[in-house]
Amino acid sequence: MTAGGPVPDFTYRAAPMRVIFGPGRLADLGGELDELELRRALVLSTPGHEALARSVAGTLGGRAAGVHPYAVMHVPVEVAERAVAAATALRADSCLAVGGGSTVGLGKAIALHTGLPVIAVPTTYAGSEMTPVWGLTSGGMKRTGRDQRVLPRSVVYDPELTVSLPIDVSVCSGLNAVAHAVEALYAPEVSPITSLLAEESVRAIRLALPALVAGPTDLGARGRALYGAWLAGACLGATTMGLHHKLCHALGGTLDLPHAQVHAVVLPHALAYNARAAPAAVAALCRALDTDDPAAALFRLTGELGAPTSLTELGVAEADLDRVARQVVAEAYPNPRQVTLDGVRELLDRAWRGSPPR
Ligand code: NAD
Repeated sequence: MTAGGPVPDFTYRAAPMRVIFGPGRLADLGGELDELELRRALVLSTPGHEALARSVAGTLGGRAAGVHPYAVMHVPVEVAERAVAAATALRADSCLAVGGGSTVGLGKAIALHTGLPVIAVPTTYAGSEMTPVWGLTSGGMKRTGRDQRVLPRSVVYDPELTVSLPIDVSVCSGLNAVAHAVEALYAPEVSPITSLLAEESVRAIRLALPALVAGPTDLGARGRALYGAWLAGACLGATTMGLHHKLCHALGGTLDLPHAQVHAVVLPHALAYNARAAPAAVAALCRALDTDDPAAALFRLTGELGAPTSLTELGVAEADLDRVARQVVAEAYPNPRQVTLDGVRELLDRAWRGSPPR
């Protein structure tokens, strides 16, 4: 939308949730549960974050029904069933996910089966806490769906909890968040609201990540990154993702690659592929990244931050690219530019080699 130009038609669904943001705000969690009249929260985490989950449960006192530290990436159905059984046995009235996308995903799986409300305390930049999207993995296949029951009621963002996130994980997780914002800018549901959120998100993360690399414990930079990740998550929840996310899911799912690192490599190339067909998105990204070529700027930034810039670095063999390209072309999803086999194959070739985007 240009300043002074007409406001385009749009449909926008605001997420009915509370967001509590700021260093030290974890201390407000008990009050938040009281506000929602929740008295027995099951505290969830990954095994690696059990100590944090127990400490959170300790501060909640009688409001915590127990701790279930068994969240695993991509929510295997057996893991979800075990968590539902634990919530039922402990007579939990809610689940409190303390962790990244994997832990929030487990909370969503419990909500999907039981209707229990989810409260989220995110510790990465994945953004799942802002979306009604659930995922469950069975026999190596991940199913996803949308259901408003899995959308967290409250989200407490405390940047102090992200200080321990290793810097290489922080960078890729932050670039994963940028990818949500970029694709929201050209999504079919794009609206003036989502565009504002997306542009501000990219600006915040672009400023935060170099500061984080320079000083991983810089709480100001941690706060800015988490703020950008929140906005990106809101974009993800309000829009349908396009070619970039399909490429990442095909690469990640088919070749079992690390989620956030794949996003970091592919994003500049997917953006370059779509750029001519998405002029408003490019204009917003030029402002947010302070550049006249957002795809090239993202590629440079990724390298400067020490994140991978080629699929070869992630162990992808050239022989796998045809299969991934065919899979991406076979599926239906909205994208501003037509997705062709030749176009995707060329994109993958550049991403594989680590060539600058074109
Ligand atoms: P993750 O939750 O698996 O966390 C990665 C690892 O980092 C875990 O071992 C975790 O214990 C550890 N960790 C998390 N926070 C930490 C911290 N502050 N300090 C130190 N260690 C920490 O990874 P993720 O990238 O947050 O989430 C990825 C998952 O989320 C994927 O399954 C992805 O599909 C899903 N996801 C879903 C949505 C959605 O809308 N449904 C959105 C984004 C991601």
